[in-house]
Amino acid sequence: MPYTRDMDLPFPPGITPDHPGPLSRFLPPIDRGVVASTLTRYASPGDLLLDPFGASPRLVVDAARAGRGVLVAVNNPVTRFVLSHMLTPFSVSELQAALAALASAPKDDGRLEPFLLDLYRTECASCGRRTVADYFVWDREQDTPILKGYNCTACGHAGEAPANRLDVERARSFSRRGLQNAMAIEQVAPAGDPDREHALAAIAVYPNRAVYALITVLNKIGQLELDGRRRAAVQALVLSALDATNALWGVPEGRARPRQLIASPQYKEANLWRSLEKAVAEWAFADPQLDVREWPTDQPPNPGTVVVASLPIRDLLPDLEDWHFDQVLTVLPRQNQAFWTLSALWAAWLWGREAAAPIKVALRRRRYDWSWHASALRASVYSLAPILGKDTLILSFMPEAEPGFVSAGLAGLSGAGFWLTGRCLRQDESEAVLTWSVDANPSDSAGKKTLIVAMEESVRRVIQARGEPCAYPLLHLAALGDLAADRRLSPLWDDPSNHPVPVLTEAFESAIGNPKAFTRIGGGIEPESGLYWLEEPMQTTPLADSCERLVLEVLLQGREFSALEVDRRVCDALTGLLTPDRRLVYACLRSYAVQSADSGLWRLRAEDAPTQRTTDLLEIHDLLVDLGSRLGFDVQDKEHVEWCDANGRPRYAFNLIATGSPAKAGGEAPVGYCLVIPGGRASLLAEKARRNPILRRWLDDGVRVIKFRHVRRLAAETTLTQVNFEERLAIDPPEHHDPQMPLL
Ligand SMILES: [Zn+2]
Repeated sequence: MPYTRDMDLPFPPGITPDHPGPLSRFLPPIDRGVVASTLTRYASPGDLLLDPFGASPRLVVDAARAGRGVLVAVNNPVTRFVLSHMLTPFSVSELQAALAALASAPKDDGRLEPFLLDLYRTECASCGRRTVADYFVWDREQDTPILKGYNCTACGHAGEAPANRLDVERARSFSRRGLQNAMAIEQVAPAGDPDREHALAAIAVYPNRAVYALITVLNKIGQLELDGRRRAAVQALVLSALDATNALWGVPEGRARPRQLIASPQYKEANLWRSLEKAVAEWAFADPQLDVREWPTDQPPNPGTVVVASLPIRDLLPDLEDWHFDQVLTVLPRQNQAFWTLSALWAAWLWGREAAAPIKVALRRRRYDWSWHASALRASVYSLAPILGKDTLILSFMPEAEPGFVSAGLAGLSGAGFWLTGRCLRQDESEAVLTWSVDANPSDSAGKKTLIVAMEESVRRVIQARGEPCAYPLLHLAALGDLAADRRLSPLWDDPSNHPVPVLTEAFESAIGNPKAFTRIGGGIEPESGLYWLEEPMQTTPLADSCERLVLEVLLQGREFSALEVDRRVCDALTGLLTPDRRLVYACLRSYAVQSADSGLWRLRAEDAPTQRTTDLLEIHDLLVDLGSRLGFDVQDKEHVEWCDANGRPRYAFNLIATGSPAKAGGEAPVGYCLVIPGGRASLLAEKARRNPILRRWLDDGVRVIKFRHVRRLAAETTLTQVNFEERLAIDPPEHHDPQMPLL
């Protein structure tokens, strides 16, 4: 069955930013170049764009830099502050001056910098002299510092050492009942405020010493005479320090983005002054040279102009009825209890209770779930559809597209009068892009089948199209996306007793749990784990093989390519839910191409030029024919090079291929089956086996992978016999048995 949905979008790949900017572990990750390439594809120069959620400062800056006018609604004062100072960034010298102003602010009998550093004083474990810790590592259960990291200027010791008794005593001398703690809570929720207990719970995610140090700095800012821009630069540094000094930084530091306001089991207590110093580089951006205005304004923004509204979109809509937006471009906001709660706290500390008021409710709502999130999304854009034209494209990025978020996004926007028109997902990065239009015929539901049957068909179609076992998130987007495109999600909101999100989750898990249709390979009890495969699969080309062929086709054009260009071409050809993982594209690229040390560009390896490969295949073929005869086998030159013993029994079958795509992988391999491949293909084959358990099982069940060069080695050995051949053959370890396979 061909995979024919016309809603498959090409995934827009980008480059991981080398300077992610402030609060990067909370703000949505958007790769460099993604917004510009998306606008080139879907919008026209000079278009007027609306970003109703303002969740990603990066998106707004990049859209305006690409010559669009942008109106963005940003209700969160913290995100808005970051956006403002990415649109009109501080210079490095402004930030350094702000740091110097803080450093030299008077504190007691001295200055603020030494005062703050002294809060983190410690003794060098090597020479015993006094030094300053850059951080302490705490054990949450023991509630005590266990390690310290520092550079001793006296003896040169650099690194970590166990915390000593004095370190523990000093850390404990900062109490929850101190004056600074009282001020910290007072600035967020004074006595009598119904949110006081919630504010206390939020502050508890800071070590006591951090609260002491932060409130000391915040009070100091209030006393300093600073002009507006200098004050903002100081606040920027402090905002980064507010992010850096809480207990949400786990040790070892993973890539995980904190979502719950819970200290890591082992967390890093960063030195506040060092965090302020580091913040200078975080906030220094090249000036994008944009015009920035604040809402309200009568005139829609010209190209390269951004209008920033400090309102939620629904409060803005009544004033936008006469505006004509060419496109809605946004990052769908993902719920994040940690960021929302901290934003309320930070805003109150930095700018006062009034500034924090619009998001103060985040303090109270300690638990969010995806049903809540779907309802919130729906409510926030419910009035948006009527002010948009029928032809307005709504394009939403979902950089953290886990299934719950996808359910909430699809159900929420469908329920708000939008109709899903396109989608793509890059699974290993959990990045999805969805396009929508205003639904002109909301009642035109195409679905007569039950939800479960419809989902089952969607799941089967996508597994068949990919030709390989698929993971839950991909199948989930396939099933729910098809329902959204068939207008079957918005009617689910008509039943007030059943929220659409759990209804969809239950139906989906019934669909993929049907043992007559699907089989799950690996994984535990949770249906999200393992990979799903068809109970009765049809023979189709696995996606990984298609990806390999496409990368080779690009490289065969004979010039040099950037990795991004190759990735983009592959994504343009394998669209929507067929988008191959980035890791796979790069494995194909490394298998066939070499990177220039100077330019960083990639070019086809000389030995992978088609004529060279044909020569190699002939050479290896002839070597195997000769070797078999020399060892006294009866050599048959058929589909494979087969060696039979004196009784005519097959002993070895050599299948020579130049690619990493063995045909019929998964079927039964002949006796003594050897897959003979170029050495450069071995790690690609290993990567394919890693992601595809069927291929992995086939390779593990009696298929030997032999590299061309090993055949050459064997052919040159003079002491080979039928008896020792088996042993000599085995000394070429296939890469898929190497657990240390490098990542990207
Ligand atoms: Zn020392």
